[in-house]
Amino acid sequence: MIEINKNFNKLEKNYLFAQISKRTQEYKTKNPKANIIKLGIGDVTLPICDVVLKAMHKAVDEMGSEKTFRGYGPYEGYEFLRQAISSSYVKYGIDIGANEIYVSDGAKSDTANIIEIFDITGNVLIPNPTYPVYVDSNILAGNNICYIEASESNNFLPLPNNEVKADLIYLCSPNNPTGAVYSKEQLKIWVDYALRNKAIILFDAAYEPFIEDESLPHSIFEIEGAKECAVESCSFSKGAGFTGIRCGYITIPNELKLNGIKAGDMWLRRQSMKFNGVSYITQRGAEAALSEEGRRQILKNINYYKENARILSEALKSKGIWHIGGKNSPYIWMKCPSKMKSWDFFDSLLETLNIVGTPGAGFGNSGEGYFRFSSFGNHEDVLEAASRFKKFNF
Ligand code: PLP
Repeated sequence: MIEINKNFNKLEKNYLFAQISKRTQEYKTKNPKANIIKLGIGDVTLPICDVVLKAMHKAVDEMGSEKTFRGYGPYEGYEFLRQAISSSYVKYGIDIGANEIYVSDGAKSDTANIIEIFDITGNVLIPNPTYPVYVDSNILAGNNICYIEASESNNFLPLPNNEVKADLIYLCSPNNPTGAVYSKEQLKIWVDYALRNKAIILFDAAYEPFIEDESLPHSIFEIEGAKECAVESCSFSKGAGFTGIRCGYITIPNELKLNGIKAGDMWLRRQSMKFNGVSYITQRGAEAALSEEGRRQILKNINYYKENARILSEALKSKGIWHIGGKNSPYIWMKCPSKMKSWDFFDSLLETLNIVGTPGAGFGNSGEGYFRFSSFGNHEDVLEAASRFKKFNF
């Protein structure tokens, strides 16, 4: 008799953002006049930039002509986009060929699906707190998760414990939810650990476009030895605003081999079986996002969000509230005042200031007592939120 995958029962029942939305809606129903400011969900709000739109319009027109129409594309993505991505690595001194890049519909599916190509018998190391997809996908697969604790004492940038062995390691930098960013020296410690353990690092660089400090690494492949032990997941979502368009890619270096087989070949085999590629129109848009003009226009949007983060950070600083992030990341991670628990602070903030954020406990138990703000809103809302913070007695 067929039964449900029992690992489903091990998943958290309530999706974090559904719970936030439910509590916010309940409050709104009771207080219909409340002007609620949402600084919770990490979705972008600014529209797609001009140069990307033009490229996509052109691609739509190509689809309407017999000569330029395209059907199924290559599973790994069109050569023009993979070449553009390969070139985008050059400015960080990294040599990644187009044949090491696999285009996808985004980093969520890639970070969840990549485990299918590995035979994981040992530990999967996942930071706590974390982007929940890493945890849920490994729970569903029945893998053994071992948390790496992030805390104020390690600036929310945990390093390996040499006593603990691992098969797979998830690192996300700039981090969701904490906004913390690993230095090159710290990543080198992780790479050396992975090489020693014959483990693989899955490096999630979805927020890489927000890095502004020159010393910080944009890619794990800036680190010596990483090509033998890491794959990197990137996304057009947060920088280019593709959350609704859907495009990302995973970089699997040719040097990365398991049992003598290239990991990239296994990934392509998996993708060609389960995935029919990203639309031509989307890939032309992504290509335009990587052009010089595309980067210039996208940077304007990123700077808009960063100004929001600066305003929020200033307001928290003026109240003496401990927080990190916001500079090389769209997220601010703050400590709840008076040792409050995350969800208690959520309710208090909603009721007293009509502001919605994300309880840190929703990203893992090490997030308890912390709270995340997203800077993806509009200036007016953020200015209003900051002025409410300043008047509030934390
Ligand atoms: N990785 C991290 C750390 C994220 O925070 C998110 C989205 O919030 C994603 C991946 C998903 O990105 P995408 O829209 O490319 O699927």
